[in-house]
Formats: sequence, structure tokens, C-alpha cells
Amino acid sequence: MHILLQNFPRGYLIVIIALVTFLTLAINIQFHTKLASDININDVMIKSLAPCNISELPSVTSKCLTGPIIEDWQKITVQAGDNLSTLFKRIGLTPQDVYQVSKAIGKGSALDTLFPGDELQFIIANNQLQKIRHIKSPLESLIIIRSENAYHAKFEKREPDIRTRFVKGAIKESLFVDGQKAGLSEQKLIELTTIFGWDIDFALDIRSGDIFTLMYEEKYLDDKLIGSGNIIAAQFVNQNKIHAALRHVDGKYYTPQGHSMHKAFLRSPVEFYRISSKFNPKRLHPILKTLRPHRGVDYAAATGTPIRASGDGRVTWRGNKNGYGRTIIIQHAGVYTTLYAHMSKYNSKVKQGSRVKQGQVIGYVGTSGYATGPHLHYEFRVNGVHKDPLKVKFPHTKPLNQEQLKEFSAFAATALMQLNTYQMKAPLARSL
Ligand SMILES: [Zn+2]
Repeated sequence: MHILLQNFPRGYLIVIIALVTFLTLAINIQFHTKLASDININDVMIKSLAPCNISELPSVTSKCLTGPIIEDWQKITVQAGDNLSTLFKRIGLTPQDVYQVSKAIGKGSALDTLFPGDELQFIIANNQLQKIRHIKSPLESLIIIRSENAYHAKFEKREPDIRTRFVKGAIKESLFVDGQKAGLSEQKLIELTTIFGWDIDFALDIRSGDIFTLMYEEKYLDDKLIGSGNIIAAQFVNQNKIHAALRHVDGKYYTPQGHSMHKAFLRSPVEFYRISSKFNPKRLHPILKTLRPHRGVDYAAATGTPIRASGDGRVTWRGNKNGYGRTIIIQHAGVYTTLYAHMSKYNSKVKQGSRVKQGQVIGYVGTSGYATGPHLHYEFRVNGVHKDPLKVKFPHTKPLNQEQLKEFSAFAATALMQLNTYQMKAPLARSL
């Protein structure tokens, strides 16, 4: 090259250098203009995907860059009353196409259950249906592809990214109100009360100043929140007593020591959220005090609010019982009985002698018997002796075994540390 340049007449060399520079600049400018105006990122994606099986993920698209065919997806939205035949007809396909596609996907497939508002996407080329795409959810699509004169169906699944979220709040009005202020959904609050439902009576035990802290999963897809996942760890400081629960791989919750949160009795026979919305926020104290002192606990709730069995057992009484009105008594394993009074009606399936499961609805709140307003009167007896249902110690169920405990303990220590670090550092929700 050097020798070549030396042998060139000087004038020519200058002209050539100028020309090359000009051409380089021109090409560059043109290329950049094209990038900016003509090439849309989506086009690039579609082109690169085009010659491949559409069901292949973008990560393998490098294999597919063989030709610039743009796929022309036609979209059609499902209306009320639509089925495959009406949809196919609307887009210009024949009953024969419906038959072929139905044959490929079989009975009970996603296309049998189309809902108004669902979108179906089609590729029709040379008067021939090539592909159908039904995006069932951000995580799941059904793709039907024609090859060798037949259609083949295939599900495409995506896994969401799981991220951990921490939430902390303090009770000022009620768990329902303050939980939502702290950013928890109604669903998460119900999950939280379910986890601690054997230890804390969320209808009567909650006090101003109680603190809850949660660590739970959220599902993201392409950086967009698409749903929430499991509570991993939670702590509830109720009347200065700390309750902590951690989720084990079996999907159940345990104390940091590996004892099951699940106990033989639920603390409350009425679900907190059924009453808390009607709850007077200034009175975070046992309701209907005028009826005290007596041998049970009263839950003020609207007539018709479901009452659930606090533990597994057998119904030994169902009927009127003087001032108690419509009453159910359940005999539980060992020495325990529970009594539920003032019902407006019974669950018709629950009769004298019936076996009932913990949490099963046995009847509904009312005013039968001597009752000044609709409420449930609830009694808890041990060996026939009345105990305060809010204070009685419930028997523990089986803890994790040695092997399970090994796995659980390591996880529990880390999760608790994360939760506590967050709890100490994070400011409380603005509701305080
Ligand atoms: Zn009572």
C-alpha cells in the first residue's frame, strides 16, 4: 500500500482522498437518517422473527435471520356470543378451516373458552390460514401453526420475575383502614389475618399502636407489575406481643422455631374483614361492653354475617336454648367445646351430630334469644369450664421434623433478619 501511494501522482492522491472522505460521510448520514426515520424497532423484531416458527423466543432469533418477510397479523376481538365459527367467518375463513383447527387443538382447549374482549390474531397468506395466536394472559399464549397441510397447537409460557416487597404499618383506626393506607391490598390483608388467625383475634384483639410488617413477593413481567405472590415473612406486634410467621416450602406458615401457625382453634369465629368495615374506629375494644361481665365474647356484626366453626369437631347441639336463642355447640377433640349463640339461621347442612371442619360456616349472626342487637355470643369451654376465648392457650399442632427444620431454620433466620432490618429502618406509613 505504501509503495502504491508513493507511485501515485500527488494530485490524483488528493482527489482520491477527498472522494473517499465525501463518500464515507454521505453513506454515514444516509444510514443514520434511515435508522431514525424508516426503521421501527418493532419492524426489526417482526422481520427477524418472520421466517422462523413464531413460537420461538427472541433469544433464539439469531438463527432466524434468513429473509425479510413481514408478518401481517390481523387482529379480531371476541364479542359476546362468538365462537370459533363466527370469528373465522368474520375474518373470511371457511368452515373447513374451523374443522382443521379444531382437530389440531382438540376438545377443552383454550379456544373453546373465549371471552368477550379476548383478542385473536391471525396470519392469512395466499388465502390460507397460517397462524393463530391467542394471548390468554401476559404469561400464556396459545399458538396454532400450519405445517405440512395440518395445524399444530402449542402453548407458550413466560415466567414472571419475582421481586420482594416490604410493607410496614401501624394501627391507628383499624387493620383494614391502616393496612390499605400502608399499601396492602384487601387480598393481602386477608392473607395476613389468615396467617395469624390462630393467635390473634382480629375482630377484638387489635389495638391502636399495633404494628405489622410484611415481606412478600410481587410478580413482574417486562418491568410491569402483573400480580402479587406469597407472603414470605410477617410480623404482627399485637398489644406489645410479637408474633412472627415464615412460609416454609410446604406452603404453610411456621413460627421462627418451626411450630405450625395452624392450631386446633381459630381465635375468632367471625372473619375480621366482615366486621371491621362497619367497625367504629374509635372503639378498638371489645364491643357491646354492656353485656359484660359474662362467660363469653360478643362479636357485633350485621345480621347474616357468616359464623365459622373455630375448630374441627362434631355438633352436639343445634336448636333453641333459652336466652341464647338459636345455638350450636361443637364438641372438639379432647376436652374442648365451643358454643355459638343468637344466630339468625343455621347452615342447613350442619345438623345435630354433623362433623364440621375448622372454618366451616355453621350459621349466621342474628338477634335470636336475649340480644340487644345483632351479634354472635361465643363461648369456649375446657372440661366444661368457661375460658376467655381471647386468652385461652390453644394446643400446638405438630412442629416441623428435624430434617425439615434444618432447611427451614436457615431460611427463617435470613428472612427474619431482612424483616427486622426493614422494620427498624423504614418509617411508618403516613397514617401515623
Ligand atoms: Zn354474649
